[in-house]
Amino acid sequence: MTQLSQKQKIQIAEQLTERDGGYRCFYCKTPCSMKRRPIIEHLNDKRSDNRLDNLVLSCQSCNIKKAADEDCVYSDIAFLKREQNENQIYVREKILNRLTKSTKKEIPTEIDINTNNYKVVLDFIESRVESFDSVEYKDALNSCVYLCKSKTSHGSQQCVRNYIQAMTSSVSPYEIIKRDNKKIIVKRAR
Ligand SMILES: [Zn+2]
Repeated sequence: MTQLSQKQKIQIAEQLTERDGGYRCFYCKTPCSMKRRPIIEHLNDKRSDNRLDNLVLSCQSCNIKKAADEDCVYSDIAFLKREQNENQIYVREKILNRLTKSTKKEIPTEIDINTNNYKVVLDFIESRVESFDSVEYKDALNSCVYLCKSKTSHGSQQCVRNYIQAMTSSVSPYEIIKRDNKKIIVKRAR
């Protein structure tokens, strides 16, 4: 399946609206409407990869900007989103969206929070593995919850657990192994 039919596009748009908490552009959050129809956008830019995890709704303007994105801002966000989709981290976004409806201005966007927290966790694991060759899973989890909360004032244990899961997935540079009956994170053996 390379080309989506009109009927498939409508179905997919409905599923993406439900998953990402609104009928709007994933990137800039501008609401979509009949007049401002969204584009079904491929996060990894592969138009043949029509897995739901690889799709988001995008407005025309963001779609164009992403194609001409020299600083890779859009593709970084897209990469992160796809990783999150594949690890089902969007549950948190849904909850956040519900929150933001009432207190929109006080809360940073879910992209900000997710990107920042993801980076906090990645930085922590990178530096620990770099310095000590490994980091204990439990320590990484608790430390990252603390770091996320103090740096972005958001970060649940479940959220950090999902990030670590993404960072130790089979395509990532880290893996979780067992040593002395403890789960530890190490550089993936290639
Ligand atoms: Zn947009």
